[in-house]
Amino acid sequence: MEPYEYGVFPMKDALELVLIFEQSGKILYANTEAEKNLEYQGNLCGRKISDIFPGAFKEEEGRVVTDYPFGREPHKLIAYRKNLTCFPVRARIIEAEGREGTYICMANVIVEEESLGREVIQRKQEAEQALKVKSEFVANVTHELRTPVNGILGHVRELSEKETDEAKLRTLQVIERCCGNMNRIINNILDFSKLEAGKFVLEPRRFHVRDMLDYVRSNHINKITEKGLDFFMTVSPQVPEYIVGDELRIVQILNNLLSNALKFTSVGKITLEVFKTAQVGGKVELFFIVIDSGIGIEEGDQGKLFQSFSQVDASISRKYGGTGLGLNICKQLVELMGGRIGMESQKDKGSVFSFSIWAQADGAQTEEDEDFGEETFVEGFPLSGLTLLDEAGDALKQYGTRENREALHKNLSKLILCVEMENWEKAEMFMDTIRGLCEGAPREVGRVVLRLKMAVQKENYEKTAAGVEELKTFLEFDEE
Ligand code: ADP
Repeated sequence: MEPYEYGVFPMKDALELVLIFEQSGKILYANTEAEKNLEYQGNLCGRKISDIFPGAFKEEEGRVVTDYPFGREPHKLIAYRKNLTCFPVRARIIEAEGREGTYICMANVIVEEESLGREVIQRKQEAEQALKVKSEFVANVTHELRTPVNGILGHVRELSEKETDEAKLRTLQVIERCCGNMNRIINNILDFSKLEAGKFVLEPRRFHVRDMLDYVRSNHINKITEKGLDFFMTVSPQVPEYIVGDELRIVQILNNLLSNALKFTSVGKITLEVFKTAQVGGKVELFFIVIDSGIGIEEGDQGKLFQSFSQVDASISRKYGGTGLGLNICKQLVELMGGRIGMESQKDKGSVFSFSIWAQADGAQTEEDEDFGEETFVEGFPLSGLTLLDEAGDALKQYGTRENREALHKNLSKLILCVEMENWEKAEMFMDTIRGLCEGAPREVGRVVLRLKMAVQKENYEKTAAGVEELKTFLEFDEE
């Protein structure tokens, strides 16, 4: 009997097993796939559906009884072959349209699906094992690397204490800085591999927020002023005195953002701002913003910043160093603390990095805190990052403005100081900044800047000093 007689689409060559049977359980039709899988050698018709699915259909007094839930929803059944071996199927059994008492069973063999499932589980276990081996390897290697680096660091510090020769002391300081950089990279790799393996655990404890911020400030302030930059920090009065959170990791995120701000800014200022943006019960959302007036990031490059090993371009990594892991680690840490990280930037204007975290507020609350009800979200906040950039950058980089002249004076003094100390490498750095500040200046100023740059490159003290003086007279003249 052909299936079209039942008013259904042709099912002879269907990929699923098709059986049509009547109320008595007698099979009226079996398609090729059913014949092949059930191995009845073309003799399925006339058999009972209870022979095929004995678990679901029983013969009782010449009728089949079943509690199988008929309908389009598939259910798992065990199908038996003629030789009584069996295999699982996912089957739908429906009553044939216009043929009361006639049923169509459509079944998919799930042996493959199950073995696929087993394979997926096996692959997952293998991947987990590989990740575990990798994490252990990374942990071992980083530990092995840390030991000699710390050994060198200890000896260098000891030698520095005794050394009186200026040149040798400078070399020792360079070695110490290199060891510090190496340790930072080792820590980043270790954190990254732990976060990747899902093994990173936060360690929350009670701490004083403003003390923590002062500590972060003290980590960077020397380098910031050394570079001739200004630093501003504002903490909103609504930020609680104490919170319960992972202080070490918050410090790590802030350190990373501030080091980047410092690394990529040669003139202007760096600002750190902290606000309380929401409170739900005893939990507060703190919002941190780091703003710089540095080189900025092209819009097309902004999307890849938080990916691992991502740096904007090769020339930047050559010039500024780094592994491209820092921001990815920050993102993962922020997300572990229930927050989000984001950035806004404009090429040659600067960048604004911001992140939020949720933490338990602890200890005495300020008056403002008490004003907050059960669930509060601070309105009208935060300010647009790009507005902040406009305030920070525009006037400074425009030749002749008050901000620009002040920055030029500052950098010329730093340049001459470096030259007097014969630190030509650093002098070149200030020279780059001075050139940037003089962009758009009149031709005669541009010519002096070029002569000054060549003098610095040739490490010529007299010509550098003369160039600095000449440039200063232009500035004073412009001021009048
Ligand atoms: P790295 O250790 O290389 O600095 P990060 O993940 O911290 O790695 O930063 C990735 C890249 O993002 C940097 O190499 C740089 O190109 C860009 N970047 C990060 N912060 C700033 C910033 N404040 N100004 C300009 N570029 C930045």
